Amino acid sequence: MNSVNANVTPMMAQYLELRKEHPDALLFFRMGDFYELFFEDAVQAAAALDIALTKRGKHLGEDIAMCGVPVHAAEGYLLTLIRKGFRVAVCEQLEDPSEAKKRGAKSVVKRGVVRMITPGTLTEDSLLQARQDNFLAAFSQVRDKAALAWTDMSSGALHVSECSLAELSPLLARLAPKEMLISQSAENTIEDLILEAGCSVTRLAPASFDSASAERRLCDLYKIQSLDAFGGFHRAEKGALGAIVEYLSLTQKGNLPFLRRPEKETALKSVQIDAATRRNLELTETLSGDKQGSLLSVIDYTITGAGARLLVNRLTNPVRDISILKDRLDAVEALASYADLRQDLRGNLKNIPDLARALSRVSLDRAGPRDLGAIRTSLATALLIHKTCESQVLPKEIDSAIHACIGHDDLIGVLDAALVSEPPLLARDGGYVAAGYIPELDNLRNLRNDSRSIIASLQAEYSEQCDIGSLKIKHNNVLGYFIETPASYASKMMATPLADIFIHRQTTANAVRFTTVVLSELETKILNAGAQALILEKQVFDQLTAAILETAAEIHATSQAIAVLDTSCALAELASKKSWSRPILTTDQRFAIVGGSHPVVEAALKKDGGNFVVNDTDLSPQSGSSLWLLTGPNMAGKSTFLRQNALIALLAQIGSFVPASKAEIGVVSQIFSRVGASDDLARGRSTFMVEMVETAAILNQADENALVILDEIGRGTATYDGLSIAWATVEHLHEVNKCRTLFATHYHELTALHEPLERVMNATVKVKEWDGEIIFLHEVTKGAADRSYGVQVAKLAGLPLAVTERAQEVLTKLEADNLAGHSGISAEDLPLFSAQPKNYVTPKKSKTDEILETVSPDEITPQEALNLIYELKSSES
Ligand code: ATP
Repeated sequence: MNSVNANVTPMMAQYLELRKEHPDALLFFRMGDFYELFFEDAVQAAAALDIALTKRGKHLGEDIAMCGVPVHAAEGYLLTLIRKGFRVAVCEQLEDPSEAKKRGAKSVVKRGVVRMITPGTLTEDSLLQARQDNFLAAFSQVRDKAALAWTDMSSGALHVSECSLAELSPLLARLAPKEMLISQSAENTIEDLILEAGCSVTRLAPASFDSASAERRLCDLYKIQSLDAFGGFHRAEKGALGAIVEYLSLTQKGNLPFLRRPEKETALKSVQIDAATRRNLELTETLSGDKQGSLLSVIDYTITGAGARLLVNRLTNPVRDISILKDRLDAVEALASYADLRQDLRGNLKNIPDLARALSRVSLDRAGPRDLGAIRTSLATALLIHKTCESQVLPKEIDSAIHACIGHDDLIGVLDAALVSEPPLLARDGGYVAAGYIPELDNLRNLRNDSRSIIASLQAEYSEQCDIGSLKIKHNNVLGYFIETPASYASKMMATPLADIFIHRQTTANAVRFTTVVLSELETKILNAGAQALILEKQVFDQLTAAILETAAEIHATSQAIAVLDTSCALAELASKKSWSRPILTTDQRFAIVGGSHPVVEAALKKDGGNFVVNDTDLSPQSGSSLWLLTGPNMAGKSTFLRQNALIALLAQIGSFVPASKAEIGVVSQIFSRVGASDDLARGRSTFMVEMVETAAILNQADENALVILDEIGRGTATYDGLSIAWATVEHLHEVNKCRTLFATHYHELTALHEPLERVMNATVKVKEWDGEIIFLHEVTKGAADRSYGVQVAKLAGLPLAVTERAQEVLTKLEADNLAGHSGISAEDLPLFSAQPKNYVTPKKSKTDEILETVSPDEITPQEALNLIYELKSSES
């Protein structure tokens, strides 16, 4: 395709040139009201979009494949293509076709790629998810240092963090970026890791990550002399930030979005949570990938998109800094107790559109009048919010948010005066500037809008003077306005006093068409008025966007304040609706929960009319038991108990109230969870391998302030291997990691460990046995379970009776042998499995059966056989 452009039409030559410049994207080539795709692009897009593939002309003797999508519906198609992993280069017409015609009949309209659309650079609401960030990330390595930078260009956030290769996977699991930039020289293993996280990879030249040019780029962007103004960044961090800025400029064709100053995150501030723990705790989605049933789905009471995104950010990045948490909790507490104020605020928040995303489109010159309207509404509502709270004494977090809501009076005034109440989505057709804002625009609009009545009165005048009732003034695209009479009236018309002013235009089979100088002038005026009005409106639009951009930083601050207010109100709503309590955070290793519950399990039980049994936990040093060994029957609620404690810690450290009547928590540095068995066949790991890799990560990394929950470690292998591994794991956690731990197990042998290990405590989930059945009490108490009741649970699950009875037999035998000191069991010890359950009653043999059993057919004579038949016959009667 990049071969000779000779012998091709000028338009095709233009296409091929642009195509060559964007080899890794589908080229959306604007032609009038359509984006057309050609050659292989057309084949791929037609298949991906399920639209017709056609042909247009020939190239090098072969048909050119073509497909197209209408411009007005392009966003839907773009969304499909992006979701299917394509990148799109959008090529627009850069001049009016009439301009091109001035250069000669055959000259082509100027076209150029105005934007690349990639998964990490979306800005349109229709392409984005309102309640989720859309991160673009960049990973850079310089010698022994590495860093990850990330941005959501639709809201202007820009972050960077030191990130070793080992930390990359947890950070990707937290951020879930849509697109990741790495150097062409980066190893393939890094690319594999990113792809595994479900993120698309874009490789850039190593120069894009060069720290010196990155520093220049960033200084230019923020108009500063040195990056030190924002705190120190090392070379890898600069490289990652620089790559992001370069890529944005590349894809937006030089048009950078508004970016907030880069914020540096340090691992020390955040709670470390690895990818497996995130998955296991089902923070934002369940293990099966559903949003419903996740922790987020139960706690999310936010109203605005920005608030929802902030809540996800907090939930995926709990913090360790007590002062930050105190501020957040103060805000939640105040809003939880001032119910009226909270409802007022939430009422106002309902009227706020997505301010950050509208602002980002303005900064990229991609906004429509509706975005300007959204900014006006948001800022005006923010002002109302300020008024609502003005007289209240509120905690720091809310107070500073409220103060960031004001200062936009001038802009609100201008937008209010300039815009209609509900501006249209697109500027193309005008109609968004309010009447009275510019008198000249009003005149032009009157002229255009009055055209119908002016034309109608002209028609009436001509019709009367010619005395032809059927004379009409019509309009078409070829002739413009014209006067039409039926052909039979043509001679009458030419005989009227007006004959001199009629200029003949066209004769058709049934009609004759004329124009007049007056009509032509009127037409020009009407056409010009429309075009002039559009030009004036566009000028107003440009003035308004310039005014907005002048205070972009302040508007951004307001949008962040709205997000903070929304999130705080939402967490307060949650706390008061569910009667949660404020956690007490300390710097020691306390972990004392009274009346704790699992928010998701509790919500699910409540929905079905059930009740959740709350439980206490105490892993504090004061309690002398920082490691609980939890035994108990299957289905008793061990996993639920483990997870609820991890979730309580996590909720406390995002600054939320917690599902407990009291919670004292020494700030947790890391949360590790290894729950249930799952395999990772895609990465070639068996169930047991995954279990061991995750356990290894915990034992190698957990520090004294970590919270570890381990569920059934060692279950993926043979009993003795598993028991031994679980045993050694408990010892290691107790002696080396010394962290707060909840360890659930079915290996009852482990409970013996509480003797030698002083901080180990046995706990169990109580059940009641009644008439051979078990009743789950879901109550966690001190002590060890005597057994697992696995067979009873299997019965409840509906295993065939024959199987559960047989299992009970085997179990009884195993337990008896164990007591007698025998190890193992052989097949001879137990009669073979019979498909009949023990209580199966063998039917009594019939007389016929008894007689037949005594007979050997080969040994009797025909006479004896005949006698036997008589005998059988009489025995049946
Ligand atoms: P297994 O050993 O078989 O994995 P488990 O002991 O880990 O079982 P869970 O999976 O935690 O048991 O809980 C089983 C079910 O019991 C839950 O789905 C829930 O419906 C119910 N349940 C758990 N905890 C409670 C509780 N505290 N109050 C009420 N119901 C509970």
